[in-house]
Amino acid sequence: MFKWILLLGFALAVYWWIRSKNQGKKVAQKPSDSGFKDKQTEVQKMVACAHCALHLPQKESIAFDGRYYCCQEHQQQISPKGWLGKALWRTSPNFDDRPTNTAIDLVVIHHISLPPGEFGGRWVMDFFQNQLDRTKHPYFAAIAEQKVSAHFFIDRAGRLIQLVSIEQRAWHAGKSDFFGRTQCNDFSIGIEIEGDGHTEFAEIQYQTLAYLTKVLLKHNPNLKFVGHSDIAPERKTDPGTFFDWQRFQKNSALSDHQFPFGSGSR
Ligand SMILES: [Zn+2]
Ligand SMILES: [Zn+2]
Repeated sequence: MFKWILLLGFALAVYWWIRSKNQGKKVAQKPSDSGFKDKQTEVQKMVACAHCALHLPQKESIAFDGRYYCCQEHQQQISPKGWLGKALWRTSPNFDDRPTNTAIDLVVIHHISLPPGEFGGRWVMDFFQNQLDRTKHPYFAAIAEQKVSAHFFIDRAGRLIQLVSIEQRAWHAGKSDFFGRTQCNDFSIGIEIEGDGHTEFAEIQYQTLAYLTKVLLKHNPNLKFVGHSDIAPERKTDPGTFFDWQRFQKNSALSDHQFPFGSGSR
């Protein structure tokens, strides 16, 4: 009998020894368990390139204006959806589809300032976004209901803002005629430059325009450049006599045939 009690006591001792050993192991494993969890929370945030949709870790991307790019090259181009990576994107609701199978081959240069003759306010962007407060200026009441836009706006500081995809039709030219082709919005890209027709444009605005022109030509090599007044002479005078067409031509290294109305002052 005593032998059996001794054997049972021994078996119990072995059981407790094995059990305590296993618990020790579990305690030892704890730091590595939590280490694994730390690694999981450290997993890099993935973002998609706004040009090609490639997924990459955020810290390896180029961040700009709330968007991400996989490389400089993609940020410098017009995306397949018609947006330029280097521009600030501030969308306008004033656009619609271009007619199907329309080749874009014209750029229309405009000027705008709001109120007329004043620069630097928020009003031009508010106007393009249908948010112009008609009570802020007598002139605003007259235009607040108009629905207009351009693809690009270059402000006095030379900032480049895109409002409408170039694949879409922006509403900038109105009734217009380009050598017998009417409705120029159908086949053109509209660029508004902040100006009032009585003031020189700023050097930095010409620089931004030259940059934009280079990018647009890479995307659409057959572009020609005209002023709003060239295609709607009875209604419009912009970009006006203060727009230096020769300087624009020289800055962008454009040839004469790209200026169907010449590059003289007008
Ligand atoms: Zn990309
Ligand atoms: Zn215009």
